[in-house]
Amino acid sequence: MNFSKLSNIINDINAVLLPRLCFGCNARLYRGEQHICAFCRNQIPLTEFDYLTENAVDRVFYGRINIKKASSFLFFTEKGITKNIIHHLKYKNQPQIGDFLGSWYGEILRETGQLRDIDCVVPVPLHHKKLKIRGYNQIELFGQKIANSIDATYINNCLIKTADTKTQTKKSRIYRWKDKQDLYVLKNAQILSNKKILLVDDVITTGATLEACVKALQKAPKTEIYILTMAFVP
Ligand SMILES: [Zn+2]
Repeated sequence: MNFSKLSNIINDINAVLLPRLCFGCNARLYRGEQHICAFCRNQIPLTEFDYLTENAVDRVFYGRINIKKASSFLFFTEKGITKNIIHHLKYKNQPQIGDFLGSWYGEILRETGQLRDIDCVVPVPLHHKKLKIRGYNQIELFGQKIANSIDATYINNCLIKTADTKTQTKKSRIYRWKDKQDLYVLKNAQILSNKKILLVDDVITTGATLEACVKALQKAPKTEIYILTMAFVP
């Protein structure tokens, strides 16, 4: 018996003893399946939005902030594969899902030549207390993979969150808070000046978080801002 056959057998024994489950539907994963099963890979709702034509994510920001272009990889619905995957990413200590989604979408960006002029990728930051509790920023690996795919620099030490707000911050609440103080601030603005910046986040709902981040990023002179999220609530 050669080594690869033996290693397949060991993997199969492991799969029986410690079954790996699909993050989309909880079904058992088979050999060759990573993170999600073949069914979920076929059924996951890709937006098929891009950076060439206007889409529903762009329209979220009309009349609010001046950005160049926005897009999202997946549709997020109240029930479904995207919601389950992102729940595991954020609340079940599965940061590798960000790597998986970033590799997938990064490959699409590379193949289609989109965002090739971007200089740096900036993640929406967590407050340091939240980061300590969760142990990772859920957008970190996604952002790094995207940056690699488009040959941009990943920069996570410029945009800072100054207060610990609830996860599902309501638009009105964030605005009330902003009356008192800026929720996101920019440090080392000179690093981002004159740059084309891709701001990345997990899910876009009202766009209030991204709007606050864009306003902070625009304190750096002569920036052009693009937005990418893993998922979009239609
Ligand atoms: Zn599945």
